[in-house]
Amino acid sequence: MLKSLEISGFKSFAKKTVLEFSDPIVSIVGPNGSGKSNVVEAVRFALGEQSMKALRGRSSPDLIFKGSKNLSAPSRAAVTAVFDNHRRIFSFTNKDNAAVGVDFNEIRVTREVYPDGQNRYLINDTPIRLKDVVEVLSSVHVGSSGHHIISQGEADRVLSVSARERREMVEDALGLKIYQYKIREAERKLERTGQNVKEVQSLRREIAPHLSFLKKQVDKLKQTEVWRTELQSLYRDYFVRESFYLKTTTADLAKRKHAFIVELRELSEKTKENTTGPDKQVTELEKEIKQSENSFQSVRALKEELGRKLGRLEGALEVMVKTPHTAGAKVVNFEEIEELAAEIEINLDEALAIEELSEIAPILERVKELVRKFLDKRNSISDSTPIQNTELSKLKESRQEIADELRRVEVKEKEILSNTASLRQELAERREAAHGREKAFYEISARKSQTENALKMLSVEEEGLITAQLAFENELKEATVLAGKEATIFDLEDSKSDIDRTLQVVKLKKIEKIKIRLEDAGLGAGEEVFKEYNEVENRDQFLAKELVDLQGSIQSLKTLIRELKETLHLEFTGGVEKINEAFQEFFTTMFGGGKASLTIIKETRRSILSGGQGDEEELSEEEKKEGDPEVGIEINISLPHKKAKDLNMLSGGERALTSIALLFAMTRVNPPPFLILDETDAALDESNSRKYGDLIEKLSKLSQLILVTHNRETMSHAHVLYGVTIGTDGASKILSVRLDEALTVAN
Ligand code: ATP
Repeated sequence: MLKSLEISGFKSFAKKTVLEFSDPIVSIVGPNGSGKSNVVEAVRFALGEQSMKALRGRSSPDLIFKGSKNLSAPSRAAVTAVFDNHRRIFSFTNKDNAAVGVDFNEIRVTREVYPDGQNRYLINDTPIRLKDVVEVLSSVHVGSSGHHIISQGEADRVLSVSARERREMVEDALGLKIYQYKIREAERKLERTGQNVKEVQSLRREIAPHLSFLKKQVDKLKQTEVWRTELQSLYRDYFVRESFYLKTTTADLAKRKHAFIVELRELSEKTKENTTGPDKQVTELEKEIKQSENSFQSVRALKEELGRKLGRLEGALEVMVKTPHTAGAKVVNFEEIEELAAEIEINLDEALAIEELSEIAPILERVKELVRKFLDKRNSISDSTPIQNTELSKLKESRQEIADELRRVEVKEKEILSNTASLRQELAERREAAHGREKAFYEISARKSQTENALKMLSVEEEGLITAQLAFENELKEATVLAGKEATIFDLEDSKSDIDRTLQVVKLKKIEKIKIRLEDAGLGAGEEVFKEYNEVENRDQFLAKELVDLQGSIQSLKTLIRELKETLHLEFTGGVEKINEAFQEFFTTMFGGGKASLTIIKETRRSILSGGQGDEEELSEEEKKEGDPEVGIEINISLPHKKAKDLNMLSGGERALTSIALLFAMTRVNPPPFLILDETDAALDESNSRKYGDLIEKLSKLSQLILVTHNRETMSHAHVLYGVTIGTDGASKILSVRLDEALTVAN
């Protein structure tokens, strides 16, 4: 398995030296101080040993060949351990925690150290980290300071170490380091993950107030959007109705106004036609009537005069008739005349009081009748004398003249009366016409002022309409600002044919309400807020998902750790049981009897300390945290025929035998690829050396053995012997020797 070792510039190996380990048992022999142990240390070094103490140096440069009189110091020390990998036993763990085989037939593990103390690690000449070296080697149960390299004087270390260290050695021997390593790795990851969880939580906490603030903003904005949409539809409806109203009302108003204007024009025309004013014809007529009346008065006075004259004549005639000497004369009783006159006067008065001419005629007829009757009565008295007749004739003549005159006057009077009547009639007609015109004029004026009022009212309406139009335009502007252009895009075709203003007022009130809400909510920067909210929200979501992932990996890490610990525990306890079997067997072989076993201690360190084992250390924090039940391992032995059970009471040889039994037991349970034993057999007597040799033979079936020894018995079991010598130049040299040579070389 360990094919060879190439040492160059390391400690006493000044020049490149190659040791082949192709045989199961290789023994390294040589005098004291020749450099045998340096070979062992070279292996440790190559495998990554970090303890300078284990390499017997103070610092890394101590490991480089110091130089001598003849040899100068090299610029570095380098050791390569060459492993066979035909069976692809080496592997490493990739990122996904899967073991990946190293696909080379040979694995060369190289370590270099430089005078400045710098170390370099290479696998197959490719520089890698120490961690990776350790990991690759642990895949084949090889560690730098493992149980498989037992340095000089270290054989009984397994007895003297603390229970906890022993536990580690056992774990190492059982190949459980890999679990430890994985557990530690998982725990580190767990811790890191826990840290990440805290960081993510704190980040989320940090953004939470901002997020909730933005959320509120966004909710507000969404609400605002709802309002805006509502506002848009309200506005559209309102605008459709309003513009329909404005259109129809404007048209209607124009129509009405036109009608009023036409009417006014017509009325003005009519007013001109019906203008009132003093009617000249009326005054003329009145004058004429006055004249006619005056003429009537004079005619009447004449008539009365004539009447009286006639009366007197009639009276004279009556007297003449009644008295003889006045034969022939007709005598008229004065009372009769007075009676007649009174009756005529009454009738005339009546006539005078009447305006209508037509009504006057019958009265005049009556008067005429009265006079005729009177005259007829007089004519009946006709017995007169001739003397009287002359007088009488004269009287009669006068009477006739007067009567004729009277008749003419009466005719005249009739004419006048009739004329007056017709004049009056005309006047009345004229007046009536004027009155009619006046009435019409006033009526028209009233209509006119009504129409003018209506026009005024109309202009009030017009003003109202203008105000409404302005308000409408303003509203359009506001709508654009508050609800966007969409609010102002409407189709007049959709117009509802009603122009119910109360409905519009209600709508406008609703609109106002939403506008106030919108204004209160505050506008602008909506998109930015949305954008920022989305960003922060996405970040939060991302963090939340991260948290879930992290918590998920915490869970799986915990599960992994638990499972690893369970496996570790099972393998450990099972391994210890197996070791115990082999330990007992080897112990019996070495001591010819007795009892030996390992006990897993589960108590705390204190109880181990009280048992006299281990060092003075307290439990480390890590151990407490791990709550590892397998705190340590104790060795219990009982030598045959001896009472002493305390390890401290054993002799040097007994200690060596016990530790060899245990080491070999461990090796048998989980054979390491190779086992290097540096003078483990130093303290053995001859008989024990033989037993030791037998065990070596047995072990060589399981592991490759490299034995540094001075013991001939041991040497006798080796298939290859390397003799190490050191010359005057201070450099170790290797030479293959035969057993007999070896015996000489070794001693
Ligand atoms: P023994 O049989 O007594 O155990 P050994 O063969 O194991 O002896 P080592 O201990 O391997 O001998 O070798 C010790 C020798 O190596 C010493 O002589 C020491 O001077 C030499 N040595 C150690 N380190 C260096 C170094 N850096 N440069 C030169 N020589 C060194």
